Amino acid sequence: MWMACSSVGVSARSMLLQRASFRACNSHRGLATHLARASASSSALSNKPPLKTPPQSVPQVASDDLPMISMDDRKVAIGWDTRTWSRFHNIWLRDHCRCPECFHPITKQRLVNTFEIPPDITPSQAEPTADGLRVSWPSSQPHVSLYPWSWLQRNSYDPALKQRETQLEKIIWSSKIQASPPTVTYEEAMAEDERGLYKWLSHVDHFGMCFISGVPPTPEATEELSKRIGFIRETQYGKFWDFTSDLAKGDTAYTTLALGAHTDNTYYTDPCGLQLFHLLSHTEGSGGSTLLVDGFYVASILKELHPDAYSVLARTPVPAHAAGEPSEFYQPYPASGYPVLTHDPVTGELIQVRWNNDDRSVMNNLDPYQVEAWYAAIRTWHKLLTSADSEYWVQLGPGTAVIVDNHRVLHGRSAFTGRRRMCGAYIGVDEYRSKLAVLREKFNPNPDNASGPETTRSIWSPAL
Ligand SMILES: [Zn+2]
Repeated sequence: MWMACSSVGVSARSMLLQRASFRACNSHRGLATHLARASASSSALSNKPPLKTPPQSVPQVASDDLPMISMDDRKVAIGWDTRTWSRFHNIWLRDHCRCPECFHPITKQRLVNTFEIPPDITPSQAEPTADGLRVSWPSSQPHVSLYPWSWLQRNSYDPALKQRETQLEKIIWSSKIQASPPTVTYEEAMAEDERGLYKWLSHVDHFGMCFISGVPPTPEATEELSKRIGFIRETQYGKFWDFTSDLAKGDTAYTTLALGAHTDNTYYTDPCGLQLFHLLSHTEGSGGSTLLVDGFYVASILKELHPDAYSVLARTPVPAHAAGEPSEFYQPYPASGYPVLTHDPVTGELIQVRWNNDDRSVMNNLDPYQVEAWYAAIRTWHKLLTSADSEYWVQLGPGTAVIVDNHRVLHGRSAFTGRRRMCGAYIGVDEYRSKLAVLREKFNPNPDNASGPETTRSIWSPAL
């Protein structure tokens, strides 16, 4: 039984799941310095590289003990306490003014002309107030900016004070997840108040997949369910698909053949974010179990046991194609393709798995000295992907749909006989992330977002 994401605790199921925080590679950004308050004015603004220590927790600002401010001709330094200082460049502060003249309060778009700000702009005054840092700028028209303390702490870059809140913890899983897979009911997912939708998408965010039980076994109900998240992404397979094994499209999905664990659309520049599918009926035959594999789990094992193979998969672009239909010829752009494992260039965390060995094109871009290493790396990857520890097999039936994060969880099926009718849809990754962000705002608001009328997003909202 899986409760709402806020109550997903790990201890109870640590036997089942391995929890990984995919934000471990932040240490190079989390530079913090320790400065004595006494020597603040001179050293807070020094250009010496800060000591490499873990990010500090953020001290609370009390209205009767405001932060200390120090400034020079390039930066303003804020002393949160005797140990913790943040420095902000003057040009950065001016560019990030959020007054209504500089930032549109409704559209949340920048209005200030960044390029009219003198590169050497220096505040005429910077003072601590109960509401935040108040900065006066020299100008023919006097200008005052106010930055809330919590906003400055959250966006502190010199040093980064704590983790950015963009990425929730992921929970990686093995085949043992079969004991208690994340599930919501159709009723929950469709409920007007969207609380169940939030639970559903939070499961997808944490686990990269989620089952939906109690779905009426019709294409109409399944399509409505898909549209709860966002637009259905139309592709060469149609918008909402409803198909049998009749080879209506030139793709092995439309056969009765077994399909190994893969992600879809490796031949797109932008593979679909989510895939929802629902087996509507299976008559006069057997087989056709669904296979799910957590690509992040397999990647974590590969990284641990075979770091060299991991690095080969992270840097070698793999070309792919979809060319089974005479009127279509899909390839990613650039045609050299993308690596099997893609990482966030800033945090270094794994963000995407792309893998479909069947759709792989000619490997004519390999470094000749890397050919054998590359084949060895995909052999190891394949071995881990297909191990009993990784493979979660489930026999789906009418009434239970499943949604997978196509950038993380691989899917496949066993061969079958008889006639299977399957329906489903793709949803773009940006539509899914947008819906999740809105629901998070609604049900799990950031305290800084609470200012202003409930229907208005704050100009201090994270990620703006
Ligand atoms: Zn302004």
